[in-house]
Amino acid sequence: MPEGGVRPARVDFNDARLSDPAVRAVGDKIRSGVRLTQADGAALYRSIDLIGIGTLADAVNRAKNGDTVTFACNQHINPTNICTLRKTCTFCGYARLPKEEGAYRYTMDQVLEEAAHAADGLTKEWHIVGGLDMQAGLAYYQEMFRTLKSNFPHVHIKALTAVEIAHIARIEKMSWKDVLMALRDAGLDTMPGGGAETFSAAVRDQIAGKKLAGADYIGVHRAAHELGIRTNCTMLYGHVETIEERMEHLQMLRDLQDETAGFLAYIPLAYHPDDNVLGEALGRQGTSTSGVDDLKMLAVGRLFLDNFTHIKSHWIMVTQALSQVSLHFGVNDLEGTVVREKIYHAVGAHTPQGMTLDGLLQLIRGAGKIPTERDSFYNVIRTFETPAAEPAAV
Ligand code: SF4
Repeated sequence: MPEGGVRPARVDFNDARLSDPAVRAVGDKIRSGVRLTQADGAALYRSIDLIGIGTLADAVNRAKNGDTVTFACNQHINPTNICTLRKTCTFCGYARLPKEEGAYRYTMDQVLEEAAHAADGLTKEWHIVGGLDMQAGLAYYQEMFRTLKSNFPHVHIKALTAVEIAHIARIEKMSWKDVLMALRDAGLDTMPGGGAETFSAAVRDQIAGKKLAGADYIGVHRAAHELGIRTNCTMLYGHVETIEERMEHLQMLRDLQDETAGFLAYIPLAYHPDDNVLGEALGRQGTSTSGVDDLKMLAVGRLFLDNFTHIKSHWIMVTQALSQVSLHFGVNDLEGTVVREKIYHAVGAHTPQGMTLDGLLQLIRGAGKIPTERDSFYNVIRTFETPAAEPAAV
């Protein structure tokens, strides 16, 4: 198994906590070091033994990461919401057409103004994603990354989803690889995992008909990994996808990780049905994914993706309280301080747009875990002592 292959030597759990025979069968495989199949994952999704699933995921996570929970002090920057797929990504409430009310594209001065938070010395990473804007091609992002690096050389640039890389390649008539090399030379350090949605072509037809195909998302990430650019990966869930389609998606991620070991973390992303066409069509507005499904998405990811070290909960999408509970369901990494999130708040996320460092520490300590600030490659920057006190509220 390559470097990303981090199956723990020994996984220990209490069999008495597994009430469903199907979950017990998966537990036997995990204890014996046998790889889970898609059918195993589907059985977990269908089981009502949430505590059993959590017990297994927690055991695997503890064997890999102990009680450490990591986070990065990061800041989201969304430089443009203008997007050519505005009419076809039916789950999106963020995008606008160029002349539509609310459309924006930052100038470099505006990017710098937003990035100025990093002057506090706390921010160590920018997470930069936006729409597929015809006026935001290679030169726009090269200038942005160079400007940011020259003003804040200590801040890591995690930017542009596979979909955005493919968009730039298309409008510049370049290969994915050439775009990635040009952006890396300008300052791109790693890539986020957005844009994956659910890979199934049938699902994409319904929710993102014109978006980069699942196989091409994998292709862009493979190209990045081959250039030494590490990336994250995601799955958008809770819309029209089936359990089997979730498992096919996870299989494609696990296969690429076997091949390249280039993924840093897997992050399931909960669909929010407000303020988007899909939510209206499904009659789902005002509802969101269930807490049980949110926890299963994280736990099954932990168990099936045996070649990943890091499973991250995105508290912006599932709430801080659920993210805290997920630290006992296989999660070892939390989305960081963020500062000002726009994309998920455009579709009804009711969470804050950012979180203070103290808030994050309190959340992690409240789960009985050890808060650890990490850099973008998961190297430890500092571990925070946990005072002997009552569990803290979130
Ligand atoms: S999800 Fe992304 S690609 Fe699709 S419309 Fe929204 S911003 Fe554009």
